[in-house]
Amino acid sequence: MLKQFPPRFGTADELKDLQNRGLKWTVEHAGNNSPFYRKQFEAAGITPTDIRTIDDLEKLPFTTADDLRAGYPFPLLAVDPAEIVRIHSSSGTTGKRKILSYTRNDIDDWSYMFGRCYEMAGVTRQDRVQICVGYGLWTAGAGFQLGCERYGAMAIPAGPGNLEMQTSLLVDMQSTVLCCTASMGLLLAEEVHRRNLKDKIALRKVILGAERTSEAMIAVIREHLGVEEVYDIPGLTELYGPGTGLSCRCNSGIHYWADYYLLEILDPETLRPVNPGEIGEMVFTTLRKEGTPLVRYRSRDLTRLIDGDCPCGCGLPRHDKILGRSDDVVIFRGVNMYPGQVDEILSGISGLGSEYQVILDHQDDGKDSMAVKVERARDGAPEDDERLGKAIVRAIKQALFVSCTPEIVPNGSLPRSERKTARMFDNRKY
Ligand code: ZN
Repeated sequence: MLKQFPPRFGTADELKDLQNRGLKWTVEHAGNNSPFYRKQFEAAGITPTDIRTIDDLEKLPFTTADDLRAGYPFPLLAVDPAEIVRIHSSSGTTGKRKILSYTRNDIDDWSYMFGRCYEMAGVTRQDRVQICVGYGLWTAGAGFQLGCERYGAMAIPAGPGNLEMQTSLLVDMQSTVLCCTASMGLLLAEEVHRRNLKDKIALRKVILGAERTSEAMIAVIREHLGVEEVYDIPGLTELYGPGTGLSCRCNSGIHYWADYYLLEILDPETLRPVNPGEIGEMVFTTLRKEGTPLVRYRSRDLTRLIDGDCPCGCGLPRHDKILGRSDDVVIFRGVNMYPGQVDEILSGISGLGSEYQVILDHQDDGKDSMAVKVERARDGAPEDDERLGKAIVRAIKQALFVSCTPEIVPNGSLPRSERKTARMFDNRKY
């Protein structure tokens, strides 16, 4: 199916062989050339030659975001700085930035992976790709741009924000593919609707990246922009950036590029593999990365693996969408809750809009309370609020075993942002 950027393997055995060789290479490369990893391996009593196959993976120590910050400005570096052709940085909400270094081969691999995303999304060389994500130190803009040019479509590097400019580009350039965060996609969809431009634009695909998405947001984007297909690209700066996988066109999970990295799903507490299909933390080990190789890097992102053959026929393995971060998990009345679950639950109730807030509070009587504020659908009426409120209480009770107080608010009344929109507010004091 994929012609320009096919998987680097044919059969399952070939993939295993490629992964065994990639892991062996990475451990030797990191252990021999990175002072950080040399120390890590020594502390764990491992010499690189101990690692022969992916079954030895569990012997290796973990790497964390703290290790990246502690090594500022060139953490985990495993090549001579002269080999570095580019750096990127992730947001890093606290302390120093996490800086990642790329060699020429790393950039080449990243563009191959990203080219595969465009190819799998059915983008053609005739497409005009409006890229509305952040440029600069971020990986998003650079990644979408790199993949687009490598693939051979026309890149329109619009950057984020500026709805006035975005809508005029959509009309004047007749962009056919839109790349943005889900929050930005929603803003733009609402703007196109407000200006009544749906018939003047030519979009046919939207590729969302760098943020969790919900079915409800995708429905609004699909409707107002008149697009046929909406894809989702996972992206972690530490792992090249966006472009390391793509949601399946059959809507059956995210295919990930197992020929470039190993993905473990581990229990964040015990750091042991979860049972098949259970939710756990994504832990990454790269197979070819030169500048900043990752060995068992704890991403804090939560998802689960999806077993079996995909109906789309693609042989690349799958994981579910990102269901939240292990740091964002809140414990409410003894139940582990993560934002992605609330997305899923609310998306299943018709008549609701895409935006919501969950507010956790500590009451005077010593109990914790949970309020769920959700927007009505755009064409919804207040007469329907009581029914919707009851449906929310029922669905949350069923999925999370907790009670909540619903509030239905007018469509468009909850805050929106171009970047990640905050939806979970924990006001409890501990
Ligand atoms: Zn598929």
